Amino acid sequence: MTELYELTISEAGELLRDRTISSVELTQAYLDRIRALEDKVKAFTLVTDELALKQAEDADRRFAKGATVSPLTGIPLAIKDVICTRGITTTCGSRMLENFQPPYDATVMERLNAAGIVMLGKTNMDEFAMGSSTEHSAFFPTRNPWDLERVPGGSSGGSAAAVAAGMAMGAYGSDTGGSIRQPGAFCNVVGLKPTYGRVSRYGLVVFASSLDQIGPFARNARDAALLLQAVAGYDPFDSTSAPEPVPDYTAALKGDIKGLRIGVPEEYWVEGTQPGVVKAVREGIKVLRELGAEVSDVSLPHTRYGVPVYYIIAPAEASANLARYDGVKYGYSYRDTDDMWEALEKTRQYGFGQEVKRRIMLGTYALSSGYYDAYYKRAEKVRTLIKQDFDRAFERFDVLVSPTSPRVAFRLGEVSDPYQMYLEDIFTIPANLAGICGVSIPGGFSEGLPVGLQLLGNVFAEDVILHVANAFQRVTDYHTRWPQLLVNR
Ligand code: GLN
Repeated sequence: MTELYELTISEAGELLRDRTISSVELTQAYLDRIRALEDKVKAFTLVTDELALKQAEDADRRFAKGATVSPLTGIPLAIKDVICTRGITTTCGSRMLENFQPPYDATVMERLNAAGIVMLGKTNMDEFAMGSSTEHSAFFPTRNPWDLERVPGGSSGGSAAAVAAGMAMGAYGSDTGGSIRQPGAFCNVVGLKPTYGRVSRYGLVVFASSLDQIGPFARNARDAALLLQAVAGYDPFDSTSAPEPVPDYTAALKGDIKGLRIGVPEEYWVEGTQPGVVKAVREGIKVLRELGAEVSDVSLPHTRYGVPVYYIIAPAEASANLARYDGVKYGYSYRDTDDMWEALEKTRQYGFGQEVKRRIMLGTYALSSGYYDAYYKRAEKVRTLIKQDFDRAFERFDVLVSPTSPRVAFRLGEVSDPYQMYLEDIFTIPANLAGICGVSIPGGFSEGLPVGLQLLGNVFAEDVILHVANAFQRVTDYHTRWPQLLVNR
């Protein structure tokens, strides 16, 4: 028999609604799984087991009373520790916020609570979402369930690992330059970055305001659609959230993809991409063609400027956003002095890790007078060129397909050069710069490790990329495979 933790959200939802299983049973199965595996994987910064069981009881009462329920009622989920949860520690992977208990819920959390979810806990991440491996967490690294010596990707590594290991039925993360899609690829789960403005950022601890988006991790496209549906839509608390109507994402999964126009960006076949990744992605493209899609090449000529432009804009915004951590407003505060400047300096010296400090310095430099025009302003102009590449491509294509990451999960400690780590996001960063949506789906294996297939869609075309993802998953079984975590360990 299938174990409870192997169910998908839509399967579990049906069993909950017809009362074959209870949310308490389901939640307990996940808490047991967490107890058995968390020592090895270390996906969570906090497991909220008491709260989870209480929420599960509430959900069961809703089912018993025949009250209105949502597709997520009673479903056990994990939340990246960058999303504010009222009264529940939200660390953002940083010593700065180690003891921070937000006085309010993020809009996403409010919507999820109203939907009646069960929160299993908060997941580990690179500090302030800066990184691609979850090794920059101030607390401990998370490990990849497919190989515990390897990283789960980042910065939302905890969320991806939790879903991959069956320690959560789905999860939420945030993606500024790839932090949902790349860990999704490394861990063999679906990871979706919505269009900028699709999901409220209110209560998302900010990294780079013009790039950040919250999005879901799931075992398949249908579950990702359900998770997105629950949080998408306008929020008056976020002035950048879009008043655009939200389509019915699961309804969009129907039908085939015959005649759909799929573009393959030429510039995404870069030197240095592992041959095993290239092979899996080419095979994935073949599958899409066999499903009736019209596949042809497309050029996105400014692709190579993506990483350099991102590493001006993201640190510039971060340096401004992180100025709030001064030891006065909230978070860690150095108190052993009467001197204000010393207090400020020591607060930031201790509170921030190395990578965060590096970004603050980079960003402050790029924004300083005399350099602003040469770096920040120019980067913004090139960002527009990158956006125009996509605008032109989406005149001819419905979806673009590429690898998610140039390689499979690397070993812990293997990438010690920051620049090397930055290149990890070469295929994911352009979507954030352009504000379009993208999803990474399980696309095969190379030497036993998962390979992600990235599908990029135009703004507010989440329904289209989910539709393609779902069609792909109807004829492939990569997404149904499990890591052999409990065997021989
Ligand atoms: N790896 C990228 C960075 O370090 C992207 C991170 C993210 O998407 N949050 O900035």
